[in-house]
Amino acid sequence: MRKMDVVEPVKLSLGSKFKFRCHKGIKCFTRCCSNIDILLTPYDVVRLKNRLGLSSEEFLEKYTYMKVDEPSSHLYAMLKMNEDAGRPCPFVTPDGCTIYTDRPANCRYYPIGQGTLKRENKDGVFDEEFYFFIREPHCYGYHEKKQWTVESWRQDQNVDQYDSINKEWKTIQLRRNLLGQPPLDEKKQMQFYMASYDSDRFRRFIFESNFLNVFDLDEETIEKIRTDEVELIKFGAKYIKYVMMLEETLKVKEKVLKEKEKKGK
Ligand code: SF4
Ligand code: SF4
Repeated sequence: MRKMDVVEPVKLSLGSKFKFRCHKGIKCFTRCCSNIDILLTPYDVVRLKNRLGLSSEEFLEKYTYMKVDEPSSHLYAMLKMNEDAGRPCPFVTPDGCTIYTDRPANCRYYPIGQGTLKRENKDGVFDEEFYFFIREPHCYGYHEKKQWTVESWRQDQNVDQYDSINKEWKTIQLRRNLLGQPPLDEKKQMQFYMASYDSDRFRRFIFESNFLNVFDLDEETIEKIRTDEVELIKFGAKYIKYVMMLEETLKVKEKVLKEKEKKGK
């Protein structure tokens, strides 16, 4: 996240044009990789932990800190900058980003920022994506001649893949814009955090607790979330929607409902 005074107050679309080039010879090379707050997405954590050969717990412990977002009360994982002078990113060196091919979505977007608005028309509520320029005085990339549209920049940076995997999770982020939503209690914050970021723990929670006795999941889904981390984090977004009572994304088994009913009598 960047300071608001560097955000250009113009709403861009996928077709908006700009000139920009970032390369090793530029005089500001790596200046954007210090003293920043980078909010991580679920897929960022999967890519980074695998790149570094760590479990999700190890990665989160070593490279992130928790931040409660106001006013949504969501608990997010932020990339932890080094404590050295200037707070450099732990992955930056004079030669550039050491995890470049697995860098987080926010680093891929830069110098474009992305937001989503809830809109309403006669067909109902829909999400509208928009973009904006981040113009930091230290960034000379805007003085270069290479032409882009927001769309071609996104493709070049492979950010489409990230957005597609994080799609359902990002709709939960929008909850912060909904008025009248109650804050999450501590238990729900931790459920949000685990299902968003701590994929190894989340997998254990599903397969080593009473979870599969309570929720009705078909065999194909169970197999997918057991063997595929991307499917697991996508399922995590559904789980978050369920626990936050945003959508009935999971179904409780009939027998569990009946038992509950009996106990209630
Ligand atoms: S992850 Fe890489 S690109 Fe992103 S801030 Fe760190 S060094 Fe820069
Ligand atoms: S400050 Fe801008 S041009 Fe310089 S390295 Fe960062 S993104 Fe590239």
